Amino acid sequence: MSTIRFQALQTVLTRTIPEVKQPSFKISDFYGSNVFDKKKMQDYLPKETFKAVLASIESGSPISREIAEQISSAMKAWAMSKGVTHYTHWFQPLTGTTAEKHDSFFEPASDGQAIERFAGDALVQQEPDASSFPNGGIRSTFEARGYTAWDPSSPAFIFGKTLCIPTVFVSYTGEALDYKAPLLKALSVMDKAATEVCHYFDKSIEKVNASLGIEQEYFLVDLALFNARPDLFLTGRALFGHASAKGQQLEDHYFGSIPERVLAYMQDFENEALQLGIPLKTRHNEVAPSQFECAPIYEEINLAIDHNQLLMDLMEKVAKRHNFKVLLHEKPYAGINGSGKHNNWSLITNTGKNLLAPGKTPKNNLMFLTFFVNTIKAVYEHADLLRASIASVSNDHRLGANEAPPAIISIFLGEQLNDVLDEIETSRISKKAKEDSAMWHSIPKIPQILLDNTDRNRTSPFAFTGNKFELRAVGSSANSSSPMTVLNMIVADQLTKFKAEVDKLIKKGDKKDVAILTVLKKYIKESKNIRFEGNGYSDEWAAEAEKRGLQNIKTTPKALDALVSEKTEKIFEETGVFTKREAHARHEILLEAYYKKLQIEARVIGELVTNVILPAAVKYQTELITNVKGLKDLGLAKDTYASQLEIIERLSKHINFIKSNVEQMVDERKKANVLEDSRDKAIAYDEKVKSYFEPIRYHVDKLELLVDDTIWPLPKFRELLFIK
Ligand code: ADP
Ligand code: MG
Repeated sequence: MSTIRFQALQTVLTRTIPEVKQPSFKISDFYGSNVFDKKKMQDYLPKETFKAVLASIESGSPISREIAEQISSAMKAWAMSKGVTHYTHWFQPLTGTTAEKHDSFFEPASDGQAIERFAGDALVQQEPDASSFPNGGIRSTFEARGYTAWDPSSPAFIFGKTLCIPTVFVSYTGEALDYKAPLLKALSVMDKAATEVCHYFDKSIEKVNASLGIEQEYFLVDLALFNARPDLFLTGRALFGHASAKGQQLEDHYFGSIPERVLAYMQDFENEALQLGIPLKTRHNEVAPSQFECAPIYEEINLAIDHNQLLMDLMEKVAKRHNFKVLLHEKPYAGINGSGKHNNWSLITNTGKNLLAPGKTPKNNLMFLTFFVNTIKAVYEHADLLRASIASVSNDHRLGANEAPPAIISIFLGEQLNDVLDEIETSRISKKAKEDSAMWHSIPKIPQILLDNTDRNRTSPFAFTGNKFELRAVGSSANSSSPMTVLNMIVADQLTKFKAEVDKLIKKGDKKDVAILTVLKKYIKESKNIRFEGNGYSDEWAAEAEKRGLQNIKTTPKALDALVSEKTEKIFEETGVFTKREAHARHEILLEAYYKKLQIEARVIGELVTNVILPAAVKYQTELITNVKGLKDLGLAKDTYASQLEIIERLSKHINFIKSNVEQMVDERKKANVLEDSRDKAIAYDEKVKSYFEPIRYHVDKLELLVDDTIWPLPKFRELLFIK
C-alpha cells in the first residue's frame, strides 16, 4: 500500500470547513480599513501637509523632507493604533513575487528604555541588501547596493502585523530592478501623449489615466494531496498524471455552484482583500474542475497591479487556513484548461471620460476612433514586443498549445466596429468642406450599444469588449506590469506619432478633423492585417496569419528576441521607458529564469521516475511474476497466466523506455549546462531537454493505468481535481 498517497486521501476525508467571520455585515463598514488612504491621511495629518501630499500624488512631484517626516509619523501612529509593530518597503523584484524586509519600529533609547520610531528617511528610501535579486548583470556583487524608493501614488497598507510601503526598486546607478519603475515611466509617457491628443477634442482635459481590471484564474487542491506530489510543490505543475476519466468534458463545473469548502475560502480571502482596499467583486467556477476565478473592479493601473500582486500573496496565505494550496501556475494539469489573467484596459480622463467608449455624437466618435485606431496600430507595429512581454516557461503551455489564446497576436473588434473601420478605409474624405462638420458623413454611425459587446471571441489574445480592450494572453502567475508597461508605452508612442502627423497636415492647411480622419484612415489601412474575427485556435488561422506576415513564436527564448531588437531599442529610447542596459539585463534575467525552471522540471522528472515511479512498477511486476510462478507450480496450462505474462512484458517496455529516455535527457542537460550564452542555453533546454518531457510522461501515464491502484504512489488526477 502506497502510504503517502493513501494517508493524504484519508486526511482529505477528515477536513472540516473553518468558520469564516466577516468583520461586519456591510462591506462598506470595513472596506479599506487596513489602508492608509486619503481619508486616514486627512485624519492624521495637519491640513496643509495633507494638501501638499495630495498635490504631489496628483502631479508626481517630489515630496519634501519635512512633509515626509510628518507622513511617516502619521503612518506610524495609525499603524500602531492597529497593533502593528514592524514596517517594510514592499517591492516587486524580477523574481516575479513580492519582496519585503521587515524592520521594527522599536529603537532602544539611551537610558535603557525604548521608543517606537519611524523616520521620514526610512519612509522615503531604503537600502536592502539586494545582491541576490535578479539583476541581469547590472550590479556586480561588489556593488550590491539597490534602493527601494517610496511610491506615494500607491497607499501604504497593513499586512499581518506589518506596515507595508509600496516602493520601486532601483540599482545604485539608477537602473530599474523591478516591475514598478518602468511601469510608472510608461504611465507617465501615456498621460502626456494621450492628454495632448485629447486637446484636439477637449481642452479641459488635464490628465489621462490608464485603467486596469484583472481577472485572476487559479486552481485549488487539498494541501495533503499537494504535499504528496513533489512535482506540484517543486514546480507548480503536475509533470505526470493520466487524465481523469471525468475531466471537463461535461462542462458541468463552469459557473456551477461553488463547492462549500471553496466558498468558505473565497469569502475568507475576499474579506481580507476588501480590508486592504482591493475591490473584489466577482467570483465563479471556471471551465476546468477545481478551477476558479476572481475579479476586482478596475482601478488605475499602478494600483490595480499592486493589488493583484498583493491578492496573489493573500490567496496563498489564506489557503493554508483552509488546508488548500492555490495553484497560480498557467498549466498545472495537462489535458484540461490552463489559467490566465485577463487584463482589461482602457484610458480614462480626469474629467471621467473613457476614451475607449464610443460616444453619442459623431464628434465624440472621432475622439473614440482616434484612441481606438491608434491602439490597433500600436499593437500591429509592436505585436512582437507584446508577445515578448507575456512570455514565460509556464505561459508557453497555453500560448503554444491549442488553448486560449494562440501565440499569434491578433485583434478582435466584433463585426460592427470592423464594418466601421472598413467603411472609413474606403470612404472619400471631403477636404473642401467649409465647416468641419461637413465631412462627418465619412464617419459611419457607431451604434450606441454594441450588440456583440458580450459576443466575445474567446480565442482572441486581444479583444475589444465594448469600452475596453482585453489582453487575454497574460499568464495567471505573471506580474501584469510587464505587458502593461509595453501596451501603454507603445500606444503612447503611437499617439505621439499620430499627433505629429496630424499637426503636419493642419500646418499644410487641412482642417483639424479632416487631418485627423486622414491619418486614421491611413492607419486603418496599414494595420489591417492584425484584425481577425475568426477562430484563433484553428490551423487555418495559423496558415492565414503566416500569409499576412504575422509572427507565431511558440516558445519563450525566441519570443524574447523582440526585447532587444533594433525596433524595440528605438521605442525604448524614444519613450525613455528602458535604457539599452536595462532592456538587455531584463532579456538576460528572463532567459535565465526560463532555462532554470526547465532545469528544475527535468531534475524532478528524473528523480520521480527513478525513485518513485519505477520502483512502483517493478513492485507490481514482481507480484505478477510471483503469481505466474505459483500458477505454473500448480501445473496449470499456459493460458491461465497468459494475461499476466502480457502485462509483465508491457510493464518492461514502459520501464525500459522511461529509464533510457531519462538517461538521454540527463545527457542533453549536461550538454546544455556548459553553454555560455543564455539564449543558446535556453534554446537548448527548450529543444533538446524539454523534448523528452512528453514522451517520458506518456509512458509514465501508461504505467499509472497499468499498475495496481493500491501500489501507485502519486495522487491521481481524479483525486487532485475533484474537491471534497
Ligand atoms: P468577463 O466577462 O470578461 O469575465 P468580468 O466582469 O469577470 O468580465 O471582468 C471584467 C473586468 O473588466 C472587471 O475587472 C471590470 O472591472 C473590468 N472593467 C470594466 N470596465 C473597464 C474599463 N473601462 N477599463 C478597465 N477595466 C474595466
Ligand atoms: Mg474576461
